[in-house]
Amino acid sequence: MMTMNIFSRAIRRHKFPTAVSPWPQFLNEQPNNLSEYVSLSVRSFNSTSMDRSASMADTDLNDLPNEKFMLILGKPGGGKGTISSKILKDFPGMEHVSTGDILRQHVREETKLGKEAKAYMDRGDLVPDEVMIRLVLDDSMSAIDSGKHLLLDGFPRTIEQAIALDENIDVEVVVDLNIPTETIVERIADRWIHPASGRVYNYSYNPPLHHGKDDESGEDLVQRDDDKPKTVRKRLEAYDKVTSPLIQYYAKKGVLKTFSGTMSDKIYPDVKEWLKKMGLN
Ligand code: ADP
Repeated sequence: MMTMNIFSRAIRRHKFPTAVSPWPQFLNEQPNNLSEYVSLSVRSFNSTSMDRSASMADTDLNDLPNEKFMLILGKPGGGKGTISSKILKDFPGMEHVSTGDILRQHVREETKLGKEAKAYMDRGDLVPDEVMIRLVLDDSMSAIDSGKHLLLDGFPRTIEQAIALDENIDVEVVVDLNIPTETIVERIADRWIHPASGRVYNYSYNPPLHHGKDDESGEDLVQRDDDKPKTVRKRLEAYDKVTSPLIQYYAKKGVLKTFSGTMSDKIYPDVKEWLKKMGLN
């Protein structure tokens, strides 16, 4: 088990005393291009790191949080979203931060970040670490600092992101979904979305009421650009190369459990039981 220093969470929670920008405000304040965004990110990220020792004095010992920070890891299309939504239903006191959803929201709203990130996403490449670190550790800070359990979905995806996360929060629970690649390739081909809302359907196990149409609006469903077969292969390769080392990284810390299978419905009861054992409620 990882060392649970009672001060560490509080200290880390205070690491960004002024840099917290609520999401809607952030959406309105897009810099002009990705490199500007990156340099902003790095500056903002580093400028607060010296506040750690000062914040220890501010810590009210009677007010220490007992929320847990958890991650869900797994190949693209491996059911992270499905398992996450089941977790959120069963553990209502949980904030959910999905970097894929946040990025797609930017793309939909055609923000500057969205336009830049889309190029990476459509190619099946990862968005640069600096951008992602800022997105999660700064712009999503209100979710991280909400006092609730936090479920991070899609972050970290590289060792660099994991190290940046470690500097800020103690990850205590990591769910690793191990799904066969063939299952994923089939599943992604069946996945269609409603672009305006982000609602996701799957023709095999979660079909829309009317073929090709969103249940609520009746509008057309489309395939995500990055769900096209060639791009899927690239995303799976990127997972093997840069994301799968995280499994070892968290296993060494003693906080990770792997769940293998092909069906989210079959896997989930084991996930739920383990989360309860790990102290989530
Ligand atoms: P999946 O897990 O199915 O690939 P996501 O919705 O998590 O889908 O992410 C979609 C895309 O968003 C990724 O292929 C990548 O381009 C980008 N992305 C999401 N999270 C990250 C991250 N932590 N680091 C880099 N890129 C990311």
